[in-house]
Amino acid sequence: MAINYCSTRDASEKKSASQAILQGLSKDGGLFVPEQLPAIKLDFHALAEQSYQEVALKILSAFLTDFSETELKDCIDAAYGSQFEDPRIAPVSEHDGKYFLELFHGPTIAFKDLALQILPHLMRTAAKKNHFDKEIVILTATSGDTGKAALEGFKNVAGTQIIVFYPQGGVSPIQEKQMVTTEGDNTYVVAVDGNFDDAQTQVKKLLNDPEMREKMAKNGKQFSSANSINIGRLVPQVVYYVYAYAQLVKQGTLAVGETLDVSVPTGNFGNILAAYYAKKIGVPLGRLICASNQNKVLTDFFATGTYDVDRPFYLTTSPSMDILVSSNLERLVYYLTAENPEETAEFMAKLARDGEYTITEAMKENWKDFYGAYADERETAEAIHATYQNAHYVIDPHTAVAVHAADEYRLQETQALPLLVVSTASAYKFPQVVYQSLFGDAPADDFAAADKLAQKTDTQIPKAVSLLIDAPIRHNETSTIALMGQIVKKLLHLS
Ligand SMILES: *Cc1c(COP(=O)(O)O)cnc(C)c1O
Repeated sequence: MAINYCSTRDASEKKSASQAILQGLSKDGGLFVPEQLPAIKLDFHALAEQSYQEVALKILSAFLTDFSETELKDCIDAAYGSQFEDPRIAPVSEHDGKYFLELFHGPTIAFKDLALQILPHLMRTAAKKNHFDKEIVILTATSGDTGKAALEGFKNVAGTQIIVFYPQGGVSPIQEKQMVTTEGDNTYVVAVDGNFDDAQTQVKKLLNDPEMREKMAKNGKQFSSANSINIGRLVPQVVYYVYAYAQLVKQGTLAVGETLDVSVPTGNFGNILAAYYAKKIGVPLGRLICASNQNKVLTDFFATGTYDVDRPFYLTTSPSMDILVSSNLERLVYYLTAENPEETAEFMAKLARDGEYTITEAMKENWKDFYGAYADERETAEAIHATYQNAHYVIDPHTAVAVHAADEYRLQETQALPLLVVSTASAYKFPQVVYQSLFGDAPADDFAAADKLAQKTDTQIPKAVSLLIDAPIRHNETSTIALMGQIVKKLLHLS
Protein backbone atom coordinates (compact mmCIF):
# COMPACT_ATOMS: atom_id res chain seq x y z
CA MET A 1 0.00 0.00 0.00
CA ALA A 2 1.55 3.33 -1.07
CA ILE A 3 1.31 6.02 1.61
CA ASN A 4 1.19 9.64 0.51
CA TYR A 5 1.64 12.64 2.77
CA CYS A 6 -0.70 15.62 2.82
CA SER A 7 -0.61 18.96 4.58
CA THR A 8 -2.45 19.43 7.90
CA ARG A 9 -3.88 22.61 6.32
CA ASP A 10 -4.70 21.46 2.78
CA ALA A 11 -5.68 17.92 1.77
CA SER A 12 -4.90 18.57 -1.91
CA GLU A 13 -1.27 19.34 -1.13
CA LYS A 14 0.00 15.78 -1.58
CA LYS A 15 3.54 14.37 -1.71
CA SER A 16 5.33 11.05 -1.69
CA ALA A 17 7.32 10.26 1.47
CA SER A 18 10.63 11.21 -0.15
CA GLN A 19 9.23 14.50 -1.47
CA ALA A 20 7.80 15.35 1.96
CA ILE A 21 11.19 14.67 3.58
CA LEU A 22 12.99 16.86 1.04
CA GLN A 23 10.50 19.68 1.40
CA GLY A 24 10.15 19.60 5.22
CA LEU A 25 7.24 22.00 5.60
CA SER A 26 4.24 22.24 3.28
CA LYS A 27 3.91 25.38 1.13
CA ASP A 28 0.81 26.48 3.05
CA GLY A 29 2.75 26.38 6.32
CA GLY A 30 1.14 23.08 7.39
CA LEU A 31 2.93 19.90 8.43
CA PHE A 32 2.95 16.70 6.41
CA VAL A 33 0.90 13.77 7.78
CA PRO A 34 0.32 10.33 6.27
CA GLU A 35 -2.91 10.29 4.25
CA GLN A 36 -3.78 7.01 5.84
CA LEU A 37 -1.93 4.89 8.36
CA PRO A 38 -0.11 1.83 7.09
CA ALA A 39 -1.71 -1.52 7.86
CA ILE A 40 1.10 -3.33 9.67
CA LYS A 41 0.86 -6.71 11.25
CA LEU A 42 2.70 -6.41 14.54
CA ASP A 43 3.54 -9.92 15.73
CA PHE A 44 5.21 -9.16 19.04
CA HIS A 45 6.44 -12.73 19.58
CA ALA A 46 8.41 -12.39 16.36
CA LEU A 47 9.38 -8.73 16.98
CA ALA A 48 10.74 -9.72 20.42
CA GLU A 49 13.49 -11.68 18.66
CA GLN A 50 14.41 -8.85 16.29
CA SER A 51 17.20 -6.31 16.57
CA TYR A 52 16.54 -2.58 16.66
CA GLN A 53 17.66 -2.36 13.04
CA GLU A 54 15.23 -5.10 11.97
CA VAL A 55 12.31 -3.44 13.74
CA ALA A 56 13.32 -0.12 12.14
CA LEU A 57 13.25 -1.68 8.68
CA LYS A 58 9.75 -3.02 9.25
CA ILE A 59 8.32 0.30 10.49
CA LEU A 60 10.14 2.57 8.04
CA SER A 61 9.15 0.35 5.08
CA ALA A 62 5.51 0.64 6.10
CA PHE A 63 5.54 4.45 6.33
CA LEU A 64 8.10 5.51 3.71
CA THR A 65 6.68 3.49 0.85
CA ASP A 66 8.52 5.07 -2.06
CA PHE A 67 11.90 4.04 -0.62
CA SER A 68 13.12 0.58 -1.59
CA GLU A 69 14.01 -1.95 1.09
CA THR A 70 17.68 -1.73 0.09
CA GLU A 71 17.65 2.05 0.36
CA LEU A 72 16.12 1.94 3.83
CA LYS A 73 18.48 -0.78 4.95
CA ASP A 74 21.47 1.34 3.90
CA CYS A 75 20.07 4.35 5.81
CA ILE A 76 19.42 2.23 8.92
CA ASP A 77 22.87 0.62 8.86
CA ALA A 78 24.53 4.03 8.57
CA ALA A 79 22.40 5.53 11.37
CA TYR A 80 22.26 2.84 14.04
CA GLY A 81 25.77 1.41 14.17
CA SER A 82 28.83 1.71 16.37
CA GLN A 83 28.19 5.41 17.04
CA PHE A 84 25.76 4.10 19.68
CA GLU A 85 27.61 3.00 22.80
CA ASP A 86 24.97 0.32 23.54
CA PRO A 87 24.47 -2.18 20.68
CA ARG A 88 20.79 -2.52 21.64
CA ILE A 89 20.43 1.17 20.59
CA ALA A 90 17.37 1.77 22.84
CA PRO A 91 17.56 -0.61 25.84
CA VAL A 92 14.71 -0.97 28.35
CA SER A 93 15.34 -1.64 32.04
CA GLU A 94 13.33 -1.69 35.26
CA HIS A 95 13.99 0.64 38.19
CA ASP A 96 11.82 1.68 41.11
CA GLY A 97 8.66 0.06 39.74
CA LYS A 98 8.88 1.61 36.28
CA TYR A 99 10.44 0.69 32.96
CA PHE A 100 12.90 3.14 31.42
CA LEU A 101 13.45 3.39 27.67
CA GLU A 102 16.99 4.74 27.42
CA LEU A 103 17.29 6.90 24.32
CA PHE A 104 20.64 8.40 25.26
CA HIS A 105 23.29 5.99 24.04
CA GLY A 106 23.97 7.86 20.78
CA PRO A 107 26.79 10.28 19.93
CA THR A 108 25.29 13.27 21.78
CA ILE A 109 23.80 11.21 24.65
CA ALA A 110 20.25 12.52 24.09
CA PHE A 111 17.20 11.24 22.26
CA LYS A 112 17.46 13.55 19.23
CA ASP A 113 20.21 11.22 17.95
CA LEU A 114 17.59 8.54 17.26
CA ALA A 115 16.07 10.78 14.56
CA LEU A 116 19.02 12.97 13.53
CA GLN A 117 21.35 10.05 12.88
CA ILE A 118 19.04 8.78 10.14
CA LEU A 119 17.48 11.98 8.73
CA PRO A 120 20.54 13.05 6.67
CA HIS A 121 20.64 9.63 5.00
CA LEU A 122 16.91 9.72 4.28
CA MET A 123 17.33 13.23 2.81
CA ARG A 124 20.24 12.23 0.63
CA THR A 125 18.37 9.14 -0.62
CA ALA A 126 15.25 11.25 -1.21
CA ALA A 127 17.33 13.73 -3.22
CA LYS A 128 18.68 10.95 -5.43
CA LYS A 129 15.24 9.44 -6.00
CA ASN A 130 13.80 12.78 -7.06
CA HIS A 131 16.75 13.66 -9.34
CA PHE A 132 17.48 16.61 -7.12
CA ASP A 133 21.08 17.33 -8.05
CA LYS A 134 21.84 20.23 -5.71
CA GLU A 135 23.93 19.96 -2.61
CA ILE A 136 21.78 20.20 0.54
CA VAL A 137 22.96 22.85 3.00
CA ILE A 138 21.64 22.93 6.56
CA LEU A 139 21.88 26.36 8.15
CA THR A 140 20.85 26.59 11.77
CA ALA A 141 21.22 28.57 14.99
CA THR A 142 21.34 26.62 18.23
CA SER A 143 21.05 27.42 21.91
CA GLY A 144 22.56 24.07 22.80
CA ASP A 145 21.59 20.53 22.00
CA THR A 146 19.98 20.36 18.60
CA GLY A 147 22.98 21.91 16.87
CA LYS A 148 25.36 19.20 18.02
CA ALA A 149 22.89 16.39 17.27
CA ALA A 150 22.44 17.77 13.73
CA LEU A 151 26.22 18.18 13.27
CA GLU A 152 26.77 14.56 14.28
CA GLY A 153 24.01 13.40 11.95
CA PHE A 154 25.16 15.28 8.86
CA LYS A 155 28.92 14.93 9.35
CA ASN A 156 30.49 13.15 6.36
CA VAL A 157 27.14 12.48 4.66
CA ALA A 158 27.93 13.01 0.96
CA GLY A 159 25.93 15.69 -0.83
CA THR A 160 25.28 17.67 2.37
CA GLN A 161 26.91 20.48 4.32
CA ILE A 162 25.96 21.95 7.67
CA ILE A 163 26.66 25.33 9.27
CA VAL A 164 25.75 25.86 12.92
CA PHE A 165 25.82 29.26 14.63
CA TYR A 166 25.82 29.45 18.41
CA PRO A 167 25.78 32.43 20.76
CA GLN A 168 29.25 32.87 22.26
CA GLY A 169 28.92 32.43 26.03
CA GLY A 170 25.28 31.39 25.54
CA VAL A 171 25.75 27.63 25.71
CA SER A 172 27.25 25.47 28.46
CA PRO A 173 31.00 24.71 28.36
CA ILE A 174 30.30 21.02 27.59
CA GLN A 175 27.92 21.99 24.78
CA GLU A 176 30.48 24.38 23.29
CA LYS A 177 33.24 21.79 23.48
CA GLN A 178 30.93 19.21 21.87
CA MET A 179 30.30 21.50 18.91
CA VAL A 180 33.77 22.92 18.26
CA THR A 181 35.35 19.45 18.29
CA THR A 182 32.98 18.05 15.62
CA GLU A 183 34.77 16.10 12.92
CA GLY A 184 33.84 15.86 9.25
CA ASP A 185 34.87 17.97 6.26
CA ASN A 186 31.29 19.17 5.61
CA THR A 187 30.67 20.65 9.09
CA TYR A 188 31.09 24.30 10.13
CA VAL A 189 30.59 25.78 13.58
CA VAL A 190 30.62 29.54 14.14
CA ALA A 191 30.51 31.40 17.48
CA VAL A 192 28.40 34.53 17.15
CA ASP A 193 28.85 37.73 19.09
CA GLY A 194 25.16 38.09 20.03
CA ASN A 195 22.35 36.21 21.74
CA PHE A 196 20.44 33.18 20.46
CA ASP A 197 17.35 35.08 19.31
CA ASP A 198 19.43 37.51 17.23
CA ALA A 199 21.36 34.62 15.66
CA GLN A 200 18.15 32.73 14.88
CA THR A 201 16.48 35.81 13.39
CA GLN A 202 19.53 36.36 11.17
CA VAL A 203 19.52 32.69 10.05
CA LYS A 204 15.84 32.99 9.09
CA LYS A 205 16.64 36.15 7.13
CA LEU A 206 19.45 34.41 5.25
CA LEU A 207 17.24 31.39 4.44
CA ASN A 208 14.65 33.71 2.87
CA ASP A 209 17.04 36.19 1.25
CA PRO A 210 16.47 36.14 -2.56
CA GLU A 211 20.04 37.17 -3.32
CA MET A 212 21.42 34.41 -1.12
CA ARG A 213 19.09 31.81 -2.65
CA GLU A 214 20.12 32.83 -6.14
CA LYS A 215 23.80 32.62 -5.26
CA MET A 216 23.21 29.18 -3.74
CA ALA A 217 21.39 27.94 -6.85
CA LYS A 218 24.12 29.30 -9.12
CA ASN A 219 26.63 27.26 -7.10
CA GLY A 220 24.53 24.08 -7.18
CA LYS A 221 23.34 24.30 -3.57
CA GLN A 222 20.04 24.67 -1.73
CA PHE A 223 19.11 25.30 1.88
CA SER A 224 17.08 22.71 3.76
CA SER A 225 15.96 22.27 7.34
CA ALA A 226 16.50 19.51 9.86
CA ASN A 227 13.95 20.73 12.39
CA SER A 228 11.62 18.44 14.25
CA ILE A 229 8.56 18.92 12.06
CA ASN A 230 10.15 16.93 9.20
CA ILE A 231 8.39 13.56 8.87
CA GLY A 232 11.87 12.13 8.30
CA ARG A 233 12.44 12.79 11.99
CA LEU A 234 8.99 11.74 13.19
CA VAL A 235 8.70 8.31 11.57
CA PRO A 236 12.03 6.95 12.93
CA GLN A 237 10.76 7.84 16.43
CA VAL A 238 7.82 5.44 16.08
CA VAL A 239 10.36 2.60 15.88
CA TYR A 240 11.52 2.72 19.49
CA TYR A 241 8.00 2.40 20.88
CA VAL A 242 7.50 -0.81 18.89
CA TYR A 243 10.94 -2.01 19.94
CA ALA A 244 10.35 -1.16 23.63
CA TYR A 245 7.06 -3.07 23.74
CA ALA A 246 8.69 -6.06 22.03
CA GLN A 247 11.58 -6.00 24.50
CA LEU A 248 9.16 -6.01 27.45
CA VAL A 249 7.45 -9.04 25.91
CA LYS A 250 10.83 -10.70 25.50
CA GLN A 251 11.75 -9.98 29.13
CA GLY A 252 8.48 -11.60 30.24
CA THR A 253 7.21 -8.32 31.72
CA LEU A 254 4.26 -7.99 29.35
CA ALA A 255 1.96 -10.60 27.87
CA VAL A 256 1.24 -9.75 24.23
CA GLY A 257 -1.73 -7.37 24.16
CA GLU A 258 -1.29 -6.13 27.73
CA THR A 259 -1.56 -2.35 28.05
CA LEU A 260 1.52 -0.22 28.70
CA ASP A 261 1.23 3.41 29.86
CA VAL A 262 3.95 5.79 28.66
CA SER A 263 5.33 9.01 30.16
CA VAL A 264 7.17 11.32 27.74
CA PRO A 265 9.16 14.46 28.65
CA THR A 266 7.73 16.88 26.14
CA GLY A 267 8.83 20.08 24.43
CA ASN A 268 7.99 20.35 20.75
CA PHE A 269 5.53 17.41 21.00
CA GLY A 270 7.48 15.27 18.50
CA ASN A 271 8.43 12.35 20.72
CA ILE A 272 4.96 11.90 22.25
CA LEU A 273 3.34 12.26 18.82
CA ALA A 274 5.46 9.31 17.68
CA ALA A 275 4.00 7.35 20.62
CA TYR A 276 0.52 8.33 19.40
CA TYR A 277 1.35 6.97 15.94
CA ALA A 278 2.71 3.79 17.50
CA LYS A 279 -0.58 3.36 19.34
CA LYS A 280 -2.55 4.03 16.16
CA ILE A 281 -0.69 1.32 14.24
CA GLY A 282 -1.38 -1.24 16.95
CA VAL A 283 1.16 -1.08 19.77
CA PRO A 284 -0.95 -1.73 22.92
CA LEU A 285 -0.16 1.58 24.60
CA GLY A 286 -2.54 3.01 27.21
CA ARG A 287 -2.32 6.58 28.44
CA LEU A 288 0.26 8.85 26.86
CA ILE A 289 1.40 11.07 29.72
CA CYS A 290 2.56 14.43 28.39
CA ALA A 291 5.12 15.63 30.93
CA SER A 292 6.07 19.32 31.02
CA ASN A 293 8.35 21.42 33.19
CA GLN A 294 7.45 24.82 34.65
CA ASN A 295 6.58 25.95 31.10
CA LYS A 296 3.32 24.01 31.37
CA VAL A 297 1.38 25.22 28.35
CA LEU A 298 0.55 21.64 27.39
CA THR A 299 -0.55 20.62 30.91
CA ASP A 300 -3.02 23.49 30.87
CA PHE A 301 -4.12 22.57 27.34
CA PHE A 302 -4.97 19.00 28.33
CA ALA A 303 -6.75 20.25 31.46
CA THR A 304 -8.88 22.95 29.82
CA GLY A 305 -8.82 22.64 26.03
CA THR A 306 -7.29 26.10 25.72
CA TYR A 307 -3.81 26.45 24.27
CA ASP A 308 -2.49 29.82 25.39
CA VAL A 309 1.13 30.81 24.78
CA ASP A 310 0.78 34.32 26.20
CA ARG A 311 2.51 33.69 29.54
CA PRO A 312 5.89 34.09 31.25
CA PHE A 313 8.77 32.00 29.93
CA TYR A 314 10.92 30.17 32.49
CA LEU A 315 14.50 28.95 32.13
CA THR A 316 14.60 25.57 33.88
CA THR A 317 17.02 22.73 34.59
CA SER A 318 15.35 20.78 31.73
CA PRO A 319 16.21 23.31 28.98
CA SER A 320 15.20 21.14 26.01
CA MET A 321 11.61 21.45 27.23
CA ASP A 322 11.68 25.22 27.70
CA ILE A 323 9.23 25.77 24.85
CA LEU A 324 5.96 27.68 24.61
CA VAL A 325 4.92 26.95 21.02
CA SER A 326 5.07 23.18 20.38
CA SER A 327 5.13 22.97 16.61
CA ASN A 328 4.15 19.29 16.37
CA LEU A 329 0.94 19.91 18.33
CA GLU A 330 -0.59 20.99 15.01
CA ARG A 331 -0.55 17.35 13.95
CA LEU A 332 -2.52 16.33 17.06
CA VAL A 333 -5.04 19.13 16.46
CA TYR A 334 -5.46 17.76 12.93
CA TYR A 335 -6.34 14.32 14.34
CA LEU A 336 -8.62 15.82 17.00
CA THR A 337 -10.61 17.52 14.22
CA ALA A 338 -10.99 14.06 12.63
CA GLU A 339 -8.44 15.05 9.95
CA ASN A 340 -10.13 18.27 8.88
CA PRO A 341 -7.53 20.57 7.24
CA GLU A 342 -9.81 23.64 7.03
CA GLU A 343 -10.59 23.51 10.74
CA THR A 344 -6.91 22.87 11.58
CA ALA A 345 -5.84 25.87 9.48
CA GLU A 346 -8.36 28.04 11.36
CA PHE A 347 -6.96 27.03 14.77
CA MET A 348 -3.41 27.77 13.58
CA ALA A 349 -4.44 31.14 12.16
CA LYS A 350 -6.08 31.97 15.48
CA LEU A 351 -2.90 30.98 17.33
CA ALA A 352 -0.80 33.24 15.10
CA ARG A 353 -3.28 36.12 15.52
CA ASP A 354 -4.31 35.86 19.19
CA GLY A 355 -1.67 33.63 20.80
CA GLU A 356 -4.36 31.12 21.84
CA TYR A 357 -7.16 28.86 20.69
CA THR A 358 -9.74 26.63 22.39
CA ILE A 359 -10.70 23.29 20.92
CA THR A 360 -14.34 22.20 20.69
CA GLU A 361 -16.14 19.74 22.98
CA ALA A 362 -16.36 17.27 20.08
CA MET A 363 -12.57 17.36 19.71
CA LYS A 364 -12.12 16.50 23.40
CA GLU A 365 -13.81 13.16 22.73
CA ASN A 366 -10.72 12.23 20.75
CA TRP A 367 -7.99 13.19 23.18
CA LYS A 368 -8.55 10.69 26.00
CA ASP A 369 -5.32 9.00 24.95
CA PHE A 370 -3.44 11.85 26.65
CA TYR A 371 -2.90 12.99 30.22
CA GLY A 372 -1.03 16.23 30.95
CA ALA A 373 1.07 16.79 34.09
CA TYR A 374 4.07 18.91 35.02
CA ALA A 375 6.93 19.10 37.49
CA ASP A 376 8.29 22.34 38.94
CA GLU A 377 12.00 22.72 39.69
CA ARG A 378 11.77 21.31 43.23
CA GLU A 379 9.73 18.31 42.08
CA THR A 380 12.24 17.64 39.30
CA ALA A 381 15.15 17.58 41.75
CA GLU A 382 13.14 15.38 44.12
CA ALA A 383 12.40 12.86 41.37
CA ILE A 384 16.14 12.60 40.60
CA HIS A 385 16.83 12.11 44.30
CA ALA A 386 14.03 9.61 44.97
CA THR A 387 14.84 7.44 41.95
CA TYR A 388 18.43 7.18 43.11
CA GLN A 389 17.48 6.65 46.75
CA ASN A 390 15.03 3.86 45.89
CA ALA A 391 16.76 2.13 43.01
CA HIS A 392 20.33 3.45 42.65
CA TYR A 393 19.41 4.61 39.16
CA VAL A 394 20.71 8.00 38.03
CA ILE A 395 18.36 10.00 35.79
CA ASP A 396 18.67 13.37 34.06
CA PRO A 397 16.33 16.35 34.74
CA HIS A 398 14.17 15.77 31.60
CA THR A 399 13.59 12.14 32.54
CA ALA A 400 12.88 13.28 36.11
CA VAL A 401 10.03 15.47 34.86
CA ALA A 402 8.51 12.39 33.23
CA VAL A 403 8.97 10.35 36.42
CA HIS A 404 7.17 12.99 38.47
CA ALA A 405 4.32 13.21 35.95
CA ALA A 406 4.01 9.41 35.94
CA ASP A 407 3.83 9.30 39.74
CA GLU A 408 1.15 11.96 39.73
CA TYR A 409 -0.83 10.04 37.12
CA ARG A 410 -0.59 6.80 39.06
CA LEU A 411 -1.98 8.43 42.21
CA GLN A 412 -5.26 8.96 40.37
CA GLU A 413 -5.56 5.47 38.96
CA THR A 414 -7.08 2.66 40.99
CA GLN A 415 -4.91 0.06 39.33
CA ALA A 416 -1.34 0.78 38.25
CA LEU A 417 -0.52 -0.63 34.81
CA PRO A 418 3.06 -1.28 33.74
CA LEU A 419 4.56 2.09 32.87
CA LEU A 420 7.31 3.11 30.49
CA VAL A 421 9.26 6.31 31.17
CA VAL A 422 10.97 7.68 28.09
CA SER A 423 14.45 8.64 29.18
CA THR A 424 15.59 11.39 26.83
CA ALA A 425 19.06 12.33 28.07
CA SER A 426 21.98 10.89 29.99
CA ALA A 427 22.54 12.28 33.49
CA TYR A 428 26.05 13.10 32.24
CA LYS A 429 24.66 15.70 29.92
CA PHE A 430 23.63 17.71 33.02
CA PRO A 431 26.14 16.56 35.65
CA GLN A 432 25.95 19.67 37.84
CA VAL A 433 22.16 19.65 38.19
CA VAL A 434 22.10 15.90 38.82
CA TYR A 435 24.94 16.02 41.33
CA GLN A 436 23.30 18.95 43.12
CA SER A 437 19.98 17.07 43.35
CA LEU A 438 21.66 13.97 44.76
CA PHE A 439 24.39 15.27 47.05
CA GLY A 440 24.16 19.09 47.23
CA ASP A 441 26.89 21.61 46.30
CA ALA A 442 28.19 20.51 42.91
CA PRO A 443 31.58 21.46 41.48
CA ALA A 444 31.21 24.56 39.28
CA ASP A 445 32.84 22.82 36.29
CA ASP A 446 30.85 20.30 34.18
CA PHE A 447 33.74 17.87 33.75
CA ALA A 448 34.62 17.95 37.45
CA ALA A 449 30.95 17.40 38.30
CA ALA A 450 30.83 14.44 35.91
CA ASP A 451 33.89 12.89 37.59
CA LYS A 452 32.45 13.30 41.05
CA LEU A 453 29.06 11.98 39.93
CA ALA A 454 30.73 8.86 38.52
CA GLN A 455 32.70 8.27 41.74
CA LYS A 456 29.80 8.80 44.12
CA THR A 457 27.20 6.80 42.17
CA ASP A 458 29.57 4.15 40.85
CA THR A 459 28.43 4.73 37.26
CA GLN A 460 30.44 5.18 34.06
CA ILE A 461 30.98 8.49 32.28
CA PRO A 462 29.81 7.90 28.67
CA LYS A 463 32.50 8.09 25.98
CA ALA A 464 30.70 11.06 24.43
CA VAL A 465 31.79 13.07 27.50
CA SER A 466 35.10 11.46 28.51
CA LEU A 467 36.56 11.63 24.98
CA LEU A 468 35.68 15.34 24.80
CA ILE A 469 38.29 16.31 27.36
CA ASP A 470 41.22 15.66 25.03
CA ALA A 471 39.42 16.14 21.70
CA PRO A 472 41.17 18.68 19.46
CA ILE A 473 39.36 21.95 18.68
CA ARG A 474 38.49 21.93 14.97
CA HIS A 475 36.30 25.02 14.64
CA ASN A 476 37.32 28.53 15.68
CA GLU A 477 35.36 30.73 13.29
CA THR A 478 33.63 33.74 14.86
CA SER A 479 31.21 36.30 13.51
CA THR A 480 29.11 39.30 14.40
CA ILE A 481 25.38 39.06 13.70
CA ALA A 482 25.73 41.44 10.75
CA LEU A 483 28.52 39.42 9.13
CA MET A 484 26.81 36.00 9.28
CA GLY A 485 25.84 36.20 5.60
CA GLN A 486 29.44 36.96 4.59
CA ILE A 487 30.63 33.98 6.65
CA VAL A 488 28.15 31.65 4.91
CA LYS A 489 29.37 32.84 1.49
CA LYS A 490 32.99 32.34 2.54
CA LEU A 491 32.49 28.87 4.05
CA LEU A 492 30.48 27.62 1.07
CA HIS A 493 32.80 29.27 -1.46
CA LEU A 494 29.83 31.04 -3.06
CA SER A 495 30.93 33.08 -6.03
C1 LIG B 1 14.18 17.68 22.52
C2 LIG B 1 14.14 17.06 23.87
C3 LIG B 1 12.92 16.81 24.54
C4 LIG B 1 11.58 17.21 23.96
O1 LIG B 1 11.20 16.39 22.90
P1 LIG B 1 10.05 16.86 21.89
O2 LIG B 1 10.03 15.84 20.82
O3 LIG B 1 10.50 18.21 21.37
O4 LIG B 1 8.79 16.95 22.66
C5 LIG B 1 12.97 16.18 25.78
N1 LIG B 1 14.15 15.85 26.35
C6 LIG B 1 15.33 16.09 25.75
C7 LIG B 1 16.60 15.70 26.45
C8 LIG B 1 15.38 16.68 24.48
O5 LIG B 1 16.57 16.92 23.91
